[in-house]
Amino acid sequence: MKILKSFVLIFMMAGLLAVSYFIYQYYQNPCHLPVKFAVEQVDSRFKIGKDEVLKIAQTAANEWNKQSSRDLLEYDQNAGLKIDMVYDQRQTNIDELNANVSQLNNTGETIEGLKSKLDILIAQYENDLNKYNLEVNYYNSQGGAPPEQFNQLQKEKQDLDSRRQMINRSASLLNVQIDERNTNLQNFKAKLDENKNKIITQGLYIPDKNVIDVFTYGNNTELKFVLMHELGHAIGLDHDQNATSLMYTMIQQQDINNLKLTSEDLLLLKQTCHLR
Ligand SMILES: [Zn+2]
Repeated sequence: MKILKSFVLIFMMAGLLAVSYFIYQYYQNPCHLPVKFAVEQVDSRFKIGKDEVLKIAQTAANEWNKQSSRDLLEYDQNAGLKIDMVYDQRQTNIDELNANVSQLNNTGETIEGLKSKLDILIAQYENDLNKYNLEVNYYNSQGGAPPEQFNQLQKEKQDLDSRRQMINRSASLLNVQIDERNTNLQNFKAKLDENKNKIITQGLYIPDKNVIDVFTYGNNTELKFVLMHELGHAIGLDHDQNATSLMYTMIQQQDINNLKLTSEDLLLLKQTCHLR
């Protein structure tokens, strides 16, 4: 009897230990509850509203949940973790580049318009010049024009001359515009290359402040990518070394239109969340 009692006791103790170990593991596991996030501040200079940022953040979070088959992230407007869109020189540069593109497109259209107008003027001028020459040749073959026709031809000649001068002036003005646009295009390309080689921090997860700051993004797809990456840090993940990974240090060879967690990303998740 006594032996049996102690056996039951030992069994219960073991069970208790197993349960506490399980509870311990559960709370040690940083992924046991979804990380809750909210969108707090979106600087009005961004061309995006708070609602849209939230929508994109939610799709970024869903992507994590779907691809990991876990509830890693969850929106909660009272969440401690805040997403802020912080406007500074980085986005100013992007906005400037975008403005440059539309300006270059506009001047391109203006130049094309002026060019086709000038082409019409030139064609009309050449047509009238031919007519004039035919008339002159005709009267020359007749031994000269009578005074009335002669005066008429003189007037036509003056008109043609002033039209030619006007066309030449317009053509050189147009050339100035074309040169200017080419220079602008070259400068723009140089600026783009310069930006391409610069590593800019687009977003940052600051654990101490429990905040994700996003500083710059090119379009909504890129914003989703940046948010997915920073939310990855918020889950507790570090960087990995695969340039196609979401958790790589920067945007490089990832297919941001079709974001798939790489095996390195999933390994990070497994290790961080103590998954087997
Ligand atoms: Zn990072």
